[in-house]
Amino acid sequence: MIGSIINGQEYNDSQNTMDVRNPYTGETEAEIALADKTEFEQAVTNSFDTFHNTMKDMPAHERSDILRKTADLMEERAEAFAEIVTKEAGKPITFSQGEVQRAIQVLRFASEEAKHISGEVIPMDAALDGDGRLGLVKNIPLGVVAAITPFNFPLNLSLHKIAPAIAAGNTVIFKPAEKTPISAYKLVQLFQEAGIPDGALNLLMGTGDIGEALVNSDKVHKVSFTGSLPVGRSIRESAGFKKVTLELGSNSPNIIFDDANINEAVDLLVKGSFAFSGQVCISAQRIYVQKSVYDQFLEKFIEKTKGLKVGNPEEADTDIGPMIDEKEAKRAKQWIDDAVDNGAKIEAGGNREGTVLRPAIMTNVKSNMKIIAEEVFAPIVSVIPFDSEKDAVAYSNDSSYGLQAGVFTKDLDRALRVADQLEMGGVWINEISTYRQDNHPYGGVKQSGIGKEGVKYAVEGMTEKKFIGFKLKDKELENK
Ligand code: NAD
Repeated sequence: MIGSIINGQEYNDSQNTMDVRNPYTGETEAEIALADKTEFEQAVTNSFDTFHNTMKDMPAHERSDILRKTADLMEERAEAFAEIVTKEAGKPITFSQGEVQRAIQVLRFASEEAKHISGEVIPMDAALDGDGRLGLVKNIPLGVVAAITPFNFPLNLSLHKIAPAIAAGNTVIFKPAEKTPISAYKLVQLFQEAGIPDGALNLLMGTGDIGEALVNSDKVHKVSFTGSLPVGRSIRESAGFKKVTLELGSNSPNIIFDDANINEAVDLLVKGSFAFSGQVCISAQRIYVQKSVYDQFLEKFIEKTKGLKVGNPEEADTDIGPMIDEKEAKRAKQWIDDAVDNGAKIEAGGNREGTVLRPAIMTNVKSNMKIIAEEVFAPIVSVIPFDSEKDAVAYSNDSSYGLQAGVFTKDLDRALRVADQLEMGGVWINEISTYRQDNHPYGGVKQSGIGKEGVKYAVEGMTEKKFIGFKLKDKELENK
């Protein structure tokens, strides 16, 4: 049994428990003790006190050291962490290994960033009456940050909140997804081993109720959430005066122009559409292909997709493993069936066995079908022809989401024109929407979210500007 960690102590004797099931085998990987009301109150009070008594005044070099040591420890145990992610999330092992390497990198970026949080000197004499005044701006920590995270990148996306929050001198209450709490528990233990003060990173095991209670708590200063749109919306509505970062979903478009390198686009988009069974917020969901190369693209795309190995995520050559649970796999299959009932065609895959859905390519789709209009979050992609640059941009923007897009063309002018017109948080040229690095600003427009992550930008969102002004007596040197 594993449980919450509050002020350095583990709480694992709750009567209220939950099994963590391996999405592929169905076996129980761990039993989790869910936090009760007393533990919740203890965690928020302790995080609040630890901020005021310890973290607020911890020197930057110490915060930096903790993050660097955590990275070093994770590097030593990289394989064990990757195996946990594969067991609890069903992620193919090579992808889990990749996630662990990115998580280590995020910790190292944050370790460096901790030392670069600086301020400003304001030119006070630019304003009337400002002569003889000095204005300083300091970037100070916010206080208690609630980090509420999803199942799909349980380590890396959690660290995109925890590491910048610690770098900036906040305390963190970490509420991981209930499907993937084992990696969360091991991660908090790693921070403890690296010397984080008790109470600076508290872990609360639980479902959405605990997340909701955090959002409503007066002792929490910021909610940093990654997850689905409905939950993001409810957080936004109840957060009151708290600062909020929301990293939500998308139905990412990718545009293939007729001058693109088609073979390269096919190779990248097979990965970008089906990696981790499409359960990636920037997964390619809509592929728009210029008419003159549509048949060529589709034929190659189908052939390459049919060559993917579907099966056990623990095997190194598996491309596609299970979805997170059977309910989600059934939901995705239903969306395919609904589209087919309305005239769509399945070009490959689409059949389900338990939690595994074979990568599906759809054509003849319409813009109001769920597989186009909503976030599919499954191994389903639609390929759609277009005539002109104008059409491709209009189709791509015809969405309530706007996270990332991919554009494939050799024409630099066109690439810049299209990038400017796409309503997205980020646009990649000759790269898939699914690609992300951990140091660029990342976060959507429209219903894809509010605020940015990418370590430096997350740190900005974890700090507050404080102005300190001096009214100086005299500018003249004293003659004594
Ligand atoms: P989810 O919204 O179901 O859950 C995310 C977290 O929120 C979990 O920890 C859950 O327990 C908690 N939660 C649930 N109800 C809550 C409530 N009322 N108040 C506060 N917290 C609550 O998401 P999921 O299924 O774990 O993850 C998939 C979703 O995450 C997809 O929509 C995906 O697009 C999105 N996502 C976005 C990004 C991004 O960076 N934009 C990255 C990864 C995933």
